[in-house]
Amino acid sequence: MKRRMIFITTLIVVMVLAIGCGNSNKVVDNGKYNVVATTTLAGDLVKSIAGEHVNVQTLMGPGVDPHLYKASAGDVKLMQGANMVVYNGLHLEGKMGDIFDNLKNSDKLIVAASDDIQEENLIDFVTNPGNYDPHIWFDVSLWKQAAKSVAEGLKKLDSENSEAYDANLEKYLEELDRLDEYIRDRASELPEDKRILVTAHDAFNYFGNAYGFEVKGLQGISTDSEAGTSDVRELANFIVEKEIKAIFVESSVPRKSIEALQEAVKAQGFQVEIGGELYSDSTGDADTDAETYIGTFTSNIDTIVDALK
Ligand SMILES: [Zn+2]
Repeated sequence: MKRRMIFITTLIVVMVLAIGCGNSNKVVDNGKYNVVATTTLAGDLVKSIAGEHVNVQTLMGPGVDPHLYKASAGDVKLMQGANMVVYNGLHLEGKMGDIFDNLKNSDKLIVAASDDIQEENLIDFVTNPGNYDPHIWFDVSLWKQAAKSVAEGLKKLDSENSEAYDANLEKYLEELDRLDEYIRDRASELPEDKRILVTAHDAFNYFGNAYGFEVKGLQGISTDSEAGTSDVRELANFIVEKEIKAIFVESSVPRKSIEALQEAVKAQGFQVEIGGELYSDSTGDADTDAETYIGTFTSNIDTIVDALK
């Protein structure tokens, strides 16, 4: 009798596995759905809302530049096999557009953090009309909208845990409100004419709009094209003219471009410090305070205000 029970149980397990392998929408590990996120920021957003209820895998590690990231064959397989894929969108993952299109055609649940952000809140590219700046996480109010979109996606995927996702979302939105308040408090320590942020690439326009900073990036919105010598000269002139105390390197962009800018300023007889490293398009390293979106942003605003004060 006992052997028969074991046999039947084994048969059921094998059948469930077989069905699972046949239909990617039913694949679960440890009884949980599998969600794949592209960037560390998207991954952190999913983890913040999902808690322990889903398995989250993130394709890009800390410090990886999403503009230039090319998905490996393994990444594509991972996304194809996942129950849900979460990405930033607005062409942040500039080399992965075709992959997302294919995934959408395969009727997989796929959520872009930027999906439900109202067009009027997006920053238009001056140089490329009709395209929007993808660095939405640098305005906490926009990231709150992204959190809501991810929560909706998770509820669609896993309606059994809907209440948990709603509760986690509510808690997370409160944490984001506190973060927003902290950023405003710290920014207010700087007189208005000192709120000028010079960084390696144009990742901080939403930050500038939301928190009252004038923002200059050496490279454009994407890191795809390198800054030319005229860009460096122009920005060096600006720094000298405004007597800017510090400029910033970014964790996902090689520091040599900002060092070249520092040299160009020096050539004009003015000293500008490198004020520290900002996390632009990814979170900080795992097991550091900057491992999360909230930690990343807290570190950034502290670095910026401390260096410009
Ligand atoms: Zn960027």
